[in-house]
Amino acid sequence: MIVYKTREEVELMREAAQVVSRTLGKVAEAIEPGITPLELDAIAESYIRSQNAIPGFLGLYDFPNTLCISINEQVVHGYPTKDPIKDGDIVSVDCGAILDGYYGDHAYTFAVGDVSPDVLKLLKVTHECLDIGVEQAKVGNRIGDIGYYIQQHAEKNGYGVVRELVGHGIGKTMHEEPQVPNFGRRGRGKKILDGLTIAIEPMINMGTERVKYLEDNWTIVTADGKPSAHFEHDVAVIDGKPEVLSTFKYVEEALAKK
Ligand code: MG
Ligand code: MG
Repeated sequence: MIVYKTREEVELMREAAQVVSRTLGKVAEAIEPGITPLELDAIAESYIRSQNAIPGFLGLYDFPNTLCISINEQVVHGYPTKDPIKDGDIVSVDCGAILDGYYGDHAYTFAVGDVSPDVLKLLKVTHECLDIGVEQAKVGNRIGDIGYYIQQHAEKNGYGVVRELVGHGIGKTMHEEPQVPNFGRRGRGKKILDGLTIAIEPMINMGTERVKYLEDNWTIVTADGKPSAHFEHDVAVIDGKPEVLSTFKYVEEALAKK
């Protein structure tokens, strides 16, 4: 069952999403070659708690940390480790927070140091896929329209769209109905109505769309070992149109100062 939100609930969700957005801004300030994912995780946890919010991933499905940090061929769900981030890595940072009972869920893939042009293009196209998906989240469309246009843009660039993981409804729980695939057919799936709140999160692979699980049975990596990128926004449908509740503003401001 889809839980449609009132305007008041959407405003609470915006506050939660903004906490996550500012947290990713803190990560952006700190990320550089040599820092460890666990150090980034500690920065994120302490910032979220300073905002009277609660890390949204911690304890969810027994996940032990605040951030999922997935490097290079890791697609999503990576555990933060004490292995330093290296020059040339791409680092996907996915963060959730709970504020006043509502979840925010938001992700950005960082290029650290000197990243090769073909990998930078993967990041750019994946970010574009997110924007293209957001545009489709409007009354008159169906959920399948979001995935259709994301998939078109990714595949036009020769990339693979991960099938095993999808976006989702979000609200008082992290994962609500409906599922929001990054692939699909136009005009199919649930109708998009006012009050729908979803996390749109393209996971795009430079090579094959196929993925596999690491031995931990949790971390997901590309089957061919090529890099994967992930960007995510929380979106509410208001007055027929998509409104992005999260923002990359803080990330972009921090990166511009580097
Ligand atoms: Mg996420
Ligand atoms: Mg999500």
